[in-house]
Amino acid sequence: MIQYFGISDVGCNRASNEDAFALEPDLGLFAVADGMGGAQAGERASRLAVEAIVKSIRAASPARNLESLLEAVRTANTDIFRQASESPALHGMGTTVVAVLLDPPLAHIASVGDSRLYLFRGGQLQRITSDQTWVNEIGRTLGLTEEQIHSHPFRNVLTMAVGARERIEVRSHELELEPGDLLLLSSDGLHGVVDENLLVEALAADSSLTKKGAALIERARSNGGPDNITAVLVENAN
Ligand code: CA
Repeated sequence: MIQYFGISDVGCNRASNEDAFALEPDLGLFAVADGMGGAQAGERASRLAVEAIVKSIRAASPARNLESLLEAVRTANTDIFRQASESPALHGMGTTVVAVLLDPPLAHIASVGDSRLYLFRGGQLQRITSDQTWVNEIGRTLGLTEEQIHSHPFRNVLTMAVGARERIEVRSHELELEPGDLLLLSSDGLHGVVDENLLVEALAADSSLTKKGAALIERARSNGGPDNITAVLVENAN
């Protein structure tokens, strides 16, 4: 049985929330998107992305496979790229996406940019996606340490975004879920601000998903909440 909860918070510094998320249990679909391109364009891009992905997965339903998820993200890219090309005010808009499509016992995962999917299993937190960022893809090959990557001025520079160009590389992953597994989809306003050991503390608490989600947001806010904060929790309950 799947339980889920999603929450997004503007944070402490920003005037608008450019993150968006989707909870579509009937489709087995859960997603987080983190828009960019200036307030209105960023909001537009992240919302367009989640709407396009939901629509595409609904059209493919009841089929649930990795290819339909990847195709949904590519369709979102085409939609956003076209709208950005047509309107000067929206030029350059784009968004990250991390999406999971449940096909029990499998979880198909697609990601673009630096929103992440984590697996919390047996008390351990494992990062499943890998960031499409300058520091991760180029800085790392130049020998930057984890500490340098964390504080690097280019740490938020994406090497790939949905809507930013005509064709994009969508990363994919597949997990075989076990009873008790908890998935966390997050924007960088959460995982870039709260250390992973503190994420573990919030996820391990003997509390409802609603309370865990609220605790994650609270931790990011108490660390200054410099960015929009989004967490989607999906539990493969016992
Ligand atoms: Ca962000």
